[in-house]
Amino acid sequence: MQVFKFGGASVNSAKAVQNVAKIVAQHLDKPLVVVVSAMGKTTNALEDLLTANREKRDTMLIYNQIREYHLQIVDELFPDKSHRIYSEVEGVFFAIMNTYKLSDEDYDYQYDQMVGLGEMLSSKILSYYLQQVEISNQWVDVKTCIATDSTFREGKVNWTQSEIQIRDVAKNVFSTSNCLVTQGFIGGDDKGRMVTLGREGSDYSAAIFAYCLNVENLTIWKDVPGFLNADPRYFKDAKKLNQITYSEAIELAYYGATIIHPKSIKPLQNRRIPLIVKSFNNPEAEGSIILNETFEKPEMACYICKPNQVLISIYPKDFSFIAEQNMSYIFFVFAENNMKINLIQNSAVSFTVCADENKQHFGDLIAALSNNFKVRYNNGLELITIRHYGEKDIKAVVGDRTILLEQRNRTTAQLVLQK
Ligand code: ASP
Ligand code: MG
Repeated sequence: MQVFKFGGASVNSAKAVQNVAKIVAQHLDKPLVVVVSAMGKTTNALEDLLTANREKRDTMLIYNQIREYHLQIVDELFPDKSHRIYSEVEGVFFAIMNTYKLSDEDYDYQYDQMVGLGEMLSSKILSYYLQQVEISNQWVDVKTCIATDSTFREGKVNWTQSEIQIRDVAKNVFSTSNCLVTQGFIGGDDKGRMVTLGREGSDYSAAIFAYCLNVENLTIWKDVPGFLNADPRYFKDAKKLNQITYSEAIELAYYGATIIHPKSIKPLQNRRIPLIVKSFNNPEAEGSIILNETFEKPEMACYICKPNQVLISIYPKDFSFIAEQNMSYIFFVFAENNMKINLIQNSAVSFTVCADENKQHFGDLIAALSNNFKVRYNNGLELITIRHYGEKDIKAVVGDRTILLEQRNRTTAQLVLQK
């Protein structure tokens, strides 16, 4: 048994849906669970719709755009205009319309009842399309599979209950067909209400299915060839890693790599299920794999870049030492002002912090610190983390920039750089 997860970019047009069908068709020699995200940027658009309604702005324009976008895809995929998908899609849009207008409801509750509908649309369109091209499959409402509590927008999974439900549903589906199609991002609480698992939650949904069914592997189909050793937006020659271990993937995510959320890795690691990342544009190519094995070291250095950093040095005004009480006060001020600390370094008489520059709170932070300390800072900096670094990797990254702070241990080097 396998699980495939298709993200929004893999189903953002009629052509894309056809491509997904082709990939699915090639893997039906054994039971397959297909978890799908909302089409393209639908989740963002549904959020915009909700915000516009709250702010009493025009909502019809956004609503119509989302509707037109889906109808155009449906129109291209289903030539028979009396096909059932047309009324199903209208049914979901009716629900969207009714939900976003409930502005006196609790916001998080309302958000989940509406934003999760993007996945209802994509999964129905995909399932009916597969059927049309004679790929036998069954559409499943994920609320009957993934059981959560009622923490709207950040549902906590009830693993025992989910495992029972998922196994039950899968057994049922796979007795008649080799393909189960369901939604990412959503679970259901004990009242049968939609509860989302947090933004970008579809990977997590796929990991939950993989864990509960103890599958052979989970494949996440993306628009990149696999895990890269750096973010191609910051590093021109980012390369694909063929394989890494779960512990390395968690380390990389800790330093800010957006490979996959540790929340999704944990269940897979617990049951030793390999995670494969492949390109839906090039399905024959090998991709990357995360395994439980302990191989020595990844094939190459990995780079994580955080832009918009500020480096703040804090000195007691009276030249006294930095003591524990000062530190706890400093951490408190950072937390109060929503500034995320990425790196710290202290000496006897100073304390230096590299943090994400939260423009909204920065002024307040500096003002609060200045009450008790002398404060100096530089902003517009970059924090680069290099895992498994060598001297030449560091040199290449630094180039002609100035290093304002550097920290190294055996596996990881972190550099705060100024242009
Ligand atoms: N559609 C949801 C989102 O964009 C879930 C996902 O794609 O992972 O956050
Ligand atoms: Mg997405």
